[in-house]
Amino acid sequence: MAAVQLSGIFKRYGDTQVVHGIDLNIDDGEFVVLVGPSGCGKSTLMRMVAGLEEISGGDLMIGGTRANTLAPQQRNISMVFQSYALYPHLSVYENIAFGPRIRKESSSSFKPRIEAAAKMLNLGSYLDRLPRALSGGQRQRVAMGRAVVREPSLFLFDEPLSNLDAKLRVQMRTEIKALHQRLKNTVIYVTHDQIEAMTMADRIVVMNAGRIEQIGRPLDLYDRPANLFVASFLGSPSMNFVEGVLVSGAGGLVLKLADSSEIALSQAPASAKTGAKVTLGIRPEHIETLASPDGVSMEVEVVEPTGAETHLYGKIGGSTWCVTTRQRSAIEPGQRVALRLPAGHIHLFDTESGRRLD
Ligand code: ADP
Repeated sequence: MAAVQLSGIFKRYGDTQVVHGIDLNIDDGEFVVLVGPSGCGKSTLMRMVAGLEEISGGDLMIGGTRANTLAPQQRNISMVFQSYALYPHLSVYENIAFGPRIRKESSSSFKPRIEAAAKMLNLGSYLDRLPRALSGGQRQRVAMGRAVVREPSLFLFDEPLSNLDAKLRVQMRTEIKALHQRLKNTVIYVTHDQIEAMTMADRIVVMNAGRIEQIGRPLDLYDRPANLFVASFLGSPSMNFVEGVLVSGAGGLVLKLADSSEIALSQAPASAKTGAKVTLGIRPEHIETLASPDGVSMEVEVVEPTGAETHLYGKIGGSTWCVTTRQRSAIEPGQRVALRLPAGHIHLFDTESGRRLD
């Protein structure tokens, strides 16, 4: 097992820098998910850790050893990719045994490991099959089996579930998490899917344009996003936002919106000052609908029932908002609903810098 430290890691392709000084300490046994939009540098960072991409600058330590220039096979890493890269002409058993055979291990040494991995991954009854006779999920499990038998100190997963259908993705997510709980290995997992990040990670690293926006435990990031980027990236439907200017009102600060409507802020943070341009954020599930008007109201434009909950869409201060209710509501498009924004769930951000006001 291995702790991983990245200090000031950057990556340049020719004149273009795509990763800008990443500092990240991953504990031994930790499951860390790198998440961010396409092109933000997740895979590049992962490939630098794996040794598949040269590191332009900074230090990479794996298990206490500087690994910048170590060859991939010297890093004691197993990687699982989006494409399973199985050998089509080899059985499941031989696919999993491929690595140990290449390393000239005796079959008496690797056979028990393969059998244990197959049992753990529910592949026991498929060992004689060829990959083409397996479902997508089973193939992905074979790819994981291949990674597991190496007994690596570090597992790297690069979007391993992207090719699977939605239902299988949810199932494999649970399986990978269970696998980690059994093996207690260090995992770095790359995805653009914030739900995968939220559900699997011990800690999430949110990346944007080659930089880290925030690092933290999933619910800490969800509850206290450090900036507008993280606030809008995590959560589905996304957090609602509206811009305004802080003015003083009778009961404390008030956010005055472009259309001159006002939202009272009974618990504004200390750094929120009159005159500041601020963006208010609140998650759809934290907004309550009221029987009687209480300041903010929204004309409902679209009603989306999902079964478990209902999403109501409309506009506040010119921005589209979503309100999620768990009750089956009889609200129809065109109706105006009064909203309560509980003070403890309101997030305020400096509109210009995007930073959270505390
Ligand atoms: P992600 O995995 O987050 O989608 P990548 O790490 O694949 O992002 O890419 C990060 C940035 O680096 C992108 O802007 C991409 O175009 C650029 N990039 C990736 N590989 C190369 C390359 N071989 N040459 C030049 N630019 C590259």
